[in-house]
Amino acid sequence: MHEQTMEQLWSTSQLAGGNVAYIEELYEAYLKDPGEVPEEWRNYFDQLPRADESVTVDTPHKPVREQFLLISKNQHRNRPVSQGSVSTEHERKQVQVLQLINAYRGRGHQHAALDPLGLMERQSVPDLDLHFHGLSKADLDTRFQSGSLFIGQDEATLKEIVDALEATYCGTVGSEFMHIVNTAEQRWFQQRLESARSHPKYSKEVKLHLLERLTAAEGLEKYLGSRYPGVKRFGLEGGESLIPLMDELIQRFGSYGAKEIVIGMAHRGRLNTLINTLGKKTSDLFNEFEGKSEYQSHGDVKYHQGFSSNVMTSGGEVHLALAFNPSHLEIVSPVVEGSVRARQDRRGDTVGELVVPISMHGDAAFAGQGVVMETFQLSQTRAYKTGGTIHIVINNQVGFTTSKREDVRSTEYCTDVAKVIEAPILHVNGDDPEAVLFAAQIAADYRREFKKDVVIDLVCYRRRGHNEADEPSGTQPIMYAQIKKQKTTRELYAAKLIADAVISAEGVKDLEEEYRKALDEGRHVVKSLVKEPNKELFVDWTPYLGHEWTADADTSFDLQALQELSNKLLEVPEGFAVQRQVGKILEDRGRMGAGASPINWGYAETMAYATLLKEGYPVRITGQDVGRGTFSHRHAVLHNQKDASRYVPLCHVSENQPAFDLYDSLLSEEAVLAFEYGYSTTTPGGLVVWEAQFGDFANGAQVVFDQFISSGEHKWGRLCGLTMLLPHGYEGQGPEHSSARLERYLQLCAEHNVQICVPSTPAQVYHMLRRQVIRPVRKPLVVMSPKSLLRHKLATSTLEELAEGRFQTVINEIDELETQAVRRVLLCSGKVYYDLLERRRAEEINDIAIVRIEQLYPFPHDDLEEVLAPYTNMEEIFWVQEEPKNMGAWYNSQHYMQRAINNLKPGMTLNYAGRAASASPAAGYMALHLAQLEQYISEALDLQG
Ligand code: AMP
Repeated sequence: MHEQTMEQLWSTSQLAGGNVAYIEELYEAYLKDPGEVPEEWRNYFDQLPRADESVTVDTPHKPVREQFLLISKNQHRNRPVSQGSVSTEHERKQVQVLQLINAYRGRGHQHAALDPLGLMERQSVPDLDLHFHGLSKADLDTRFQSGSLFIGQDEATLKEIVDALEATYCGTVGSEFMHIVNTAEQRWFQQRLESARSHPKYSKEVKLHLLERLTAAEGLEKYLGSRYPGVKRFGLEGGESLIPLMDELIQRFGSYGAKEIVIGMAHRGRLNTLINTLGKKTSDLFNEFEGKSEYQSHGDVKYHQGFSSNVMTSGGEVHLALAFNPSHLEIVSPVVEGSVRARQDRRGDTVGELVVPISMHGDAAFAGQGVVMETFQLSQTRAYKTGGTIHIVINNQVGFTTSKREDVRSTEYCTDVAKVIEAPILHVNGDDPEAVLFAAQIAADYRREFKKDVVIDLVCYRRRGHNEADEPSGTQPIMYAQIKKQKTTRELYAAKLIADAVISAEGVKDLEEEYRKALDEGRHVVKSLVKEPNKELFVDWTPYLGHEWTADADTSFDLQALQELSNKLLEVPEGFAVQRQVGKILEDRGRMGAGASPINWGYAETMAYATLLKEGYPVRITGQDVGRGTFSHRHAVLHNQKDASRYVPLCHVSENQPAFDLYDSLLSEEAVLAFEYGYSTTTPGGLVVWEAQFGDFANGAQVVFDQFISSGEHKWGRLCGLTMLLPHGYEGQGPEHSSARLERYLQLCAEHNVQICVPSTPAQVYHMLRRQVIRPVRKPLVVMSPKSLLRHKLATSTLEELAEGRFQTVINEIDELETQAVRRVLLCSGKVYYDLLERRRAEEINDIAIVRIEQLYPFPHDDLEEVLAPYTNMEEIFWVQEEPKNMGAWYNSQHYMQRAINNLKPGMTLNYAGRAASASPAAGYMALHLAQLEQYISEALDLQG
């Protein structure tokens, strides 16, 4: 066999058709004498699994057959073929016909006419050739059983069968579903596609509606292009079919009972979607173009703006929300999922029927960005599933200026990443609006039936450059030469409808003029828009607007009720076998609840959740291993040692309590944190917590902090009360996992955008978590949470401190030092406090006070001044930190502390005691770590020399 033929067979064949038999024959020959088969095959067979040769001579067949069956399993799933039963030529051909049918199902999409420009390079697929299957044109008139082909008759001529297959699988819809392992899903697709030949006959009304939507899509771009020439708008031109596609999805989900649809999309086509799908008033958009908008916040460019509206469908009113998004492509997808899940949880919609996510993507980003895979991987997990997402790839076949297949991705399609979760993929030619409509219907119905993700790959083009000021033919000459000649989708469809006598040429003109007139008048152009929306379809955020961070919060909780709750958490179901060490933790908590021993971190944190639940606030916690806690302090989920069943005491705090949702997350930070951002920006009433395994893991989610958490309120007016627990602390564990990179978060702080806290006692974490919900303020909360402090003998609190206290932004010296005797004050945050305290006590130093700043941002100026004021004899003041000088709070927060000092002691400057600046966050050797610790503790406590 020639190398080329071999390569072609292996690279393109699904080992369907006659090949299994052929290869088996080869293998027989190989078994007799390996020298009889070509070298390439010999090498391949040499690698196959071997059975024990001493058993029977026939044994080697089995693994081989399994291997081939595995490769061609799609083939055999529908109709297992026994080669031994083939007795006549016709029967042999019958088998080949069935295999041909499956070849089309699996690979027909590779011959589909997907590219409106006709430039897409397609491989030839031998499996779709009659000869490959031992058939020829001479057989076209022979009648064969059509097997599982949904063709409306049991028998048909080969020609009829091939025509049906060509129409179904190689027309303007190319479907990929044979990679799905669930047979029911495969069959579902076969039935839906084959029975309609992937091109149902639509009524005149439907066709006119499609034309009207295309006219709107094209009309807006033309209008903006002539009114605001050269202004960036990332137009949809070339992908206008998106608008009828969206229209169909919304109407269809509405008719299935959806109440809310949340949409995520990047900038391309966004203005068109805002106007033609969500019904934004056109005059509002024009004002934005003309810079006349009122500033409510710092704002964002118009093609990042979100929008909300209600539209009417045959199933009732549906609320639409288009998520705000940054330029960072794809990151909005998990945000949308989180927002959808929050709405589903609010409605008790456990299957995802009432709220539907639609995520739009660009082809290059979909193939290129890792968060796409992470988001897919969320889709069926307990914590993050949303009943399936409709993904639409606006595939204009170019990413900015990169379009060469070899450069832009490694896979045939930009959608191949979706196969990671076996999502079906419908590639559709954007210049066939009816095919696009069909793809939308199939996608919506698949989600409804199977509650899983599905992808529509809208293959289109980009009529202009990356934006309207960009000239594309410098980098894509052939493509743009073709595009210049290309009629628009609307023109093509209008011509078709005129030819089919569905509409007259004047009718087409009328549609154009009607739309232009609506734009001239600045009107809404979505006919289904509900002018007086039903507000019950979405959450009222007004109670959370306009509060300062200083708003007071009473986080106390009646002592007796606290103890009752504490006891309740110790209850486990009859016969539930708690693991020994966990049992010990519960026993300890029993003693803490009884007031018999000091309270530790795990207890206080658990009681924060319990008391919030008791007061009616829902709580959601996700993150890596949050059930147990990375450092084994939480144990919120108990595991029965007998049968591995789980029991979550916090779900049984009281009857009618709100949800306590706690889930271990997949090992993702970016998608998971973005999801929780989406969740918390949709859930004002509850506590939403994300915990990183170690604080520095959050690095992988930096984009979420930068583009959403720290800036979302100021760019888009979207409040967010997300709490992030980032374990942080220098314990000699090396460069990784010591630092949560506090400096990064502090650097992002301005205009009271986030809160950064470093609680150092159990009572502090308790009140901090409670404050986060009880106060009407909704601000992201970044917490440097402890590791060794979870068990530190001094890091304890009392029941009374939980019952009566408050979160203290600054904690004054706790030992009874004589204030007037204090000549040096040490300011610090977090674990270093205990290092300082223990050493000062050991050295019996009485003139150095240690003050903890527990909230580094918004900086508690007044509280710090109040604490420092009595130290009137203070001569020196230090900031002490365990992080290197270029990290931690030193550079970002020193001027805040200095301001308080200036007010009390003009001229006194803040000194630094801590590690020297360092490229690496922490020392890798324990001895070096300890030496550094000794150095700065002695410096801070004035023990040197
Ligand atoms: P949505 O359900 O996302 O369309 O939101 C409905 C309305 O609630 C929006 O138009 C906003 O007025 C308000 N809203 C939604 N989310 C937030 C948020 N995170 N912060 C402030 N207001 C919000």
